[in-house]
Amino acid sequence: MNATTTDGQSLLIVEDEPDLLELLRFNLDREGFEVHTAETGEDGLKLLRRARPNLMVLDLMLPGMDGLEVCRQVRQDAALKDTSIIMLTAKGEESDIVRGLEMGADDYVTKPFSPRVLVARIQSVLRRVKSVGVEDGRLRVANVTLDQERHEVTIDGQPTDLTATEFKLLHLMMKRPGRVYTRQQIIEGVHEGFAAVTDRSVDVQVVALRKKLGAAGRRIETVRGVGYRFRE
Ligand code: CA
Repeated sequence: MNATTTDGQSLLIVEDEPDLLELLRFNLDREGFEVHTAETGEDGLKLLRRARPNLMVLDLMLPGMDGLEVCRQVRQDAALKDTSIIMLTAKGEESDIVRGLEMGADDYVTKPFSPRVLVARIQSVLRRVKSVGVEDGRLRVANVTLDQERHEVTIDGQPTDLTATEFKLLHLMMKRPGRVYTRQQIIEGVHEGFAAVTDRSVDVQVVALRKKLGAAGRRIETVRGVGYRFRE
């Protein structure tokens, strides 16, 4: 029942390649979104302030102000910071993806991509924004339930014994299923940025958590060169 995801939702596409911009405009318009477009980061920011779209599709490689800088300015602006952002990145630009996610982008799509893939990502990000609300203190994804108040995780109703760190790690990822977290974001979210925690120890904790979750552990996916996500 997600046929209404697009209802009344507006998007801004910032992309300097005219053909791609037209293709995206055509496809997203057909999906029922109200579509705004800009070809530079500067124009994108202006339009963002004027049109207040729900979500911005942002190319990282732009002439002048690049996408990372646009992303940074959006997240620092109290009026704009809640705008969802999906980055468009070139293949092999993992370091840019990591930086973009750490600047607060919600997701990314790697070029070349089919418009259908982008539409699915947009709908997924917009759905996530709606479903962030917690039901009676519990997060639920498929057969995994995390009870914040009781500090308990159950799989098919069966309690699982997690350490405090594993619980925090799962909580972080389950709050935004489908969202990719970089190792640095995990260190900040789980360990309050504790400097002694390395990328490697994050990997070790993820492996341990996966094991304890049994078959549901497969929902924690490794995103090569970027980080981890809990699959919806
Ligand atoms: Ca570009």
